Amino acid sequence: MATDKNAELFERARALIPGGVNSPVRAFRAVGGTPRFVQRARGAYFWDANGDRYIDYIGSWGPMILGHGHPRVVEAVQRAVEEGFSFGAPTEREIELAEEVAKHLPAVEMLRLVSSGTEAAMSAIRLARGATGRNRIIKFEGCYHGHADALLVKAGSGLATFGHPTSAGVPAEVVQHTLVLEYNNIAQLEEAFAAHGEDIACVAIEPIAGNMNFVRASVPFMQRCRELCSRHGALLVFDEVMTGFRVALGGAQSVYARAIPGFAPDLTVLGKVIGGGMPLAAFGGPRRLMERLAPLGPVYQAGTLSGNPVATACGLATLQEIARPGFYEALAQKTRALVDGLKGAAAEAGVPFSADSEGGMFGFFLLPQLPRNYGEVMKSDSERFGRLFHGLLDRGVYIAPALYEAGFVSAAHGDDDIARTVEAASEVFRSLA
Ligand SMILES: *Cc1c(COP(=O)(O)O)cnc(C)c1O
Repeated sequence: MATDKNAELFERARALIPGGVNSPVRAFRAVGGTPRFVQRARGAYFWDANGDRYIDYIGSWGPMILGHGHPRVVEAVQRAVEEGFSFGAPTEREIELAEEVAKHLPAVEMLRLVSSGTEAAMSAIRLARGATGRNRIIKFEGCYHGHADALLVKAGSGLATFGHPTSAGVPAEVVQHTLVLEYNNIAQLEEAFAAHGEDIACVAIEPIAGNMNFVRASVPFMQRCRELCSRHGALLVFDEVMTGFRVALGGAQSVYARAIPGFAPDLTVLGKVIGGGMPLAAFGGPRRLMERLAPLGPVYQAGTLSGNPVATACGLATLQEIARPGFYEALAQKTRALVDGLKGAAAEAGVPFSADSEGGMFGFFLLPQLPRNYGEVMKSDSERFGRLFHGLLDRGVYIAPALYEAGFVSAAHGDDDIARTVEAASEVFRSLA
């Protein structure tokens, strides 16, 4: 048998890098087996170290909304590289990117660029605390807002997979102001505001939670979040690192604004798609709040590589492509076709299954009904998921290697890719039934 280069690389990696990976979920711990080391990627596919091709439904966990190696993005990055990698001084492209973002998100009058979603969420929370003069924050079980200490409580995703409700190394004092509530539970939210309303700086939420697979905040729940924040002088912080420019050009906030007249968050946190695959993230909101940031205000925030010229070129080119008319209609239609195909295949095989999507983001559960919170997500059968995952992988379809993760379709996925995926799933479902 030919040598398995993925296995060789994994062994080499494990000697030097904890778990062989630079972000835990990549290690396949939840599903077992050998992680695929990516050699190159193009469009909807990547090739691993053995030269095997996969249809990619991760897309770097969301950023690759145009597919890999989009020619206009590649060209923009190449041009930027020629001009210089990093200056530590402002550039025109940072303004262009900020203008492009503000154009699509009316709630973002001003924004600051940073390098990761973690940094953006952490900075937004600091700003919320600095602007309100309050310490307490509310987050929801199963929502992930990056790995800043204060937010690393019951945070779903990689953490859920490894069974840590929170991380070692985070002192209890650091999270003492973090109140963790059940997602979609209006009564609990009301109780928390009744008890602590005057101390709450902000409510941080993933509006469509993608770090417990795919769970929507219900419209009444979101409406109540907005009302209670406004009434008590707390800020509503939308963590759209995953959903921003992914579920719609206007993000998840545009989805809720369609259902709730006048709806808008106070602060918005962005990442993933905004960088098009480069390290770039941002947070923004109304001028009166954003002007509290240094150098104008007392809330400190900084970054050596913030607004990096190559990353901004990549993000800007990506945003310009996705702003083309019809882009999201086509993406959403393709994603729905995938979800409907999977549902049909599961039903035919008699496998309990539920699935949902918005724009180019989807999720599915080996459960008869869509879960509404983390506790319900946890009822998924992880052993069965592992068999589904490996069945698909063997057939050249790469989905997230953990059942707490969402999936992503790109503009480069063709109808034939969707059809091949549904066919592969059909075969695997029959073996699961
Ligand atoms: C990915 C993610 C983050 C963290 O972003 P990084 O760039 O990985 O630091 C924060 N919030 C949400 C909702 C995310 O999906």
